[in-house]
Amino acid sequence: MTKNVPELFGSMVFNEEVMRQRLPYEVFKSLKKTVEEGKEIDPSIADAVANAMKDWAIEKGATHYTHWFQPLTGVTAEKHDSFIAPVPGGKVVMEFSGKELIKGESDASSFPSGGLRATFEARGYTAWDPASYAFVKDGTLYIPTAFCSYTGEALDTKTPLLRSMDAVSKQGMRLVRLFGDTVSKRITTTLGIEQEYFIIDKEIYDQRKDLMYTGRTLFGAPAPKGQELEDHYFGEIKTRIGHFMAELDEELWKLGILSKTKHNEGAPAQHEMAPIYSTANMAVDQNLLIMTYMKKIAERHGLVCLLQEKPYAGVAGSGKHNNWSIGTDTGKNLLKPGKTPAENKQFLLILAAVVKAVDDYQDLLRLSVAFAGNDHRLGANEAPPAIISMFIGDDLQEVVDSIISGTAYKSHDKIKMNLGIPTVPTFTKDTTDRNRTSPFAFTGNKFEFRMPGASQNMAMPNIVLNTAVAESFRQFADVLEGAENFDAALAKLIKDTLTEHSRIIFNGDGYSGEWEKEAAVRGLLNLKTSVDAYKTFSAEKNVKLFSMHGVMSETEIRSREEILFENYAKILNIEAKTMEEMATRDILPAVNAYVAEVASNASAKTAVIPGIDISMETDIIETLSKLVGEGYAALKALKAARTAATSKPSGEKMAEAFCKKVVPAMATLRRKVDDMEKLTSSEYWPIPTYGDMMFRV
Ligand code: ADP
Ligand code: MG
Repeated sequence: MTKNVPELFGSMVFNEEVMRQRLPYEVFKSLKKTVEEGKEIDPSIADAVANAMKDWAIEKGATHYTHWFQPLTGVTAEKHDSFIAPVPGGKVVMEFSGKELIKGESDASSFPSGGLRATFEARGYTAWDPASYAFVKDGTLYIPTAFCSYTGEALDTKTPLLRSMDAVSKQGMRLVRLFGDTVSKRITTTLGIEQEYFIIDKEIYDQRKDLMYTGRTLFGAPAPKGQELEDHYFGEIKTRIGHFMAELDEELWKLGILSKTKHNEGAPAQHEMAPIYSTANMAVDQNLLIMTYMKKIAERHGLVCLLQEKPYAGVAGSGKHNNWSIGTDTGKNLLKPGKTPAENKQFLLILAAVVKAVDDYQDLLRLSVAFAGNDHRLGANEAPPAIISMFIGDDLQEVVDSIISGTAYKSHDKIKMNLGIPTVPTFTKDTTDRNRTSPFAFTGNKFEFRMPGASQNMAMPNIVLNTAVAESFRQFADVLEGAENFDAALAKLIKDTLTEHSRIIFNGDGYSGEWEKEAAVRGLLNLKTSVDAYKTFSAEKNVKLFSMHGVMSETEIRSREEILFENYAKILNIEAKTMEEMATRDILPAVNAYVAEVASNASAKTAVIPGIDISMETDIIETLSKLVGEGYAALKALKAARTAATSKPSGEKMAEAFCKKVVPAMATLRRKVDDMEKLTSSEYWPIPTYGDMMFRV
């Protein structure tokens, strides 16, 4: 059956097209103005919008509506209310008012608030974000909202993101005006978020408590085959996975999500999907929906989608590539170098602003991707270092070098690729190669931040990026607006900034050991663990940055900091307890049972033929018994470390103890158990192996 994708696309979204059709013209115009220019909403139009939304949603099968928000749990929250309202005669009508659209009330004390809310003053509000479209999903009208406390502090991730987008726009407009742009009204931040994930068979998943409770394997010896043949990346998509992907595309298209690219990733059973970019807050909202649908649709196919950053040790982890750019509302991408970047002063200034932002706020960028799951992807023993640096490519590097040294830049002609086969057309080569090891790479007309983890809400990385860039813009505009000779001041500003911040640019192999040493010489931060990163959050310079641009107040920062520490400790506590349970109740008993069987076999053999060769049995009994003893000791040590960590007086101290004491204790126990796995009969081994999990889908 053919599918009419254009018809399907956005069919469940209350988008501009639907608004134009269903709203009175004046109301539509007013709403569009609010969204496009970031103006305050006119409350008098709310009733009309609400009514149109309701009628449309009912046609799409909705009976309920919900304010959909992003509390600091990292996942989304929703509470469904039906549209029913009683009328005389014991009947109901379907109603939805402007008030209900604009404002919702919710119990803020049940969400993490980092001390911002006490249970006795629990009121929290959700407020409609008209810049992100409402949609119908599972018979409910979803209204994207911001979430704040009774006293007005943001209790979510969306509010600061919207504020940070405003900050970039405000400061960025000052710069583009200086370059003679009199028409643009706003600068928009655009995002394309590539999402990596693993797929596992549901029946196998159900047998692993670690996957169920923590999303990652806490034990497991490597399978004989990993990703060394490099045969999975871009490989043929298996039929079952293909069906899952097709259904995912369809559901996402209905929600107006521009699902574009899908392919196999590097590790076995690892995949990726990428949508076409959109406005930042929309892209972040949609990424949350993408994750929800990946999980939901996988289940329909007897599969489970793993979004944890490192479900399996020894193979690649899953990240989320944050392709970020800024442009004017008139459609000009400010990160587009054009044909002659060396002469494009506005581009060079914007580039310098990003270079400065990344260097000045390395700590915050690192922090924005710091959480327990991502620690296994960044800075750990089998992962790239957690150092922030930027890749700009050879061509731009030459431009930058010539600016810094004050020498002339010689441009290169585009190189034609000719494969020497007459029937294959020649094509022009990209001016820069890719760099897969850089955490922050310039990719032609956007930057790709590659450190974010697969499971995370993408608001924070972009809050940091936007605000840091807004601050560069602010400083630049202050200098240039007051300049007597604009061109001279501009040239000096670009040169000084690039010179001062060139240490952050690194075009080499970011995974190499030499880079770690070199980065230390350059004075770049190397915040290895999440806990190291969290400690930088409320540094004076960072509080000043966020508060100056109205993105987060000191109170909002402190509350988030507390939640980060607490959340880290809670996750590690769950992981450690899961290991304890699996080792105590499943693994050690299984190994003991196997040893007992081998021992009774040995006795039986010897009884028949005294002196018979039982060297295999003796070896197994000896090695496994020793491992069981060591494993048991490691288990006790883990329990002790965990108990000590949970009794620390503050979230920060707890997180520190989990990071320094519990994580190594978990690693020791894992090593012992993985060694046992290699020697225990598969008949006795109580849980599916790495081979089962990665190759049986
Ligand atoms: P890859 O890095 O895997 O080669 P692509 O280059 O195709 O992937 O693009 C990655 C993502 O970057 C896509 O989601 C794409 O829509 C997005 N992207 C392209 N241009 C921009 C832009 N101006 N702003 C933000 N994202 C963009
Ligand atoms: Mg990419």
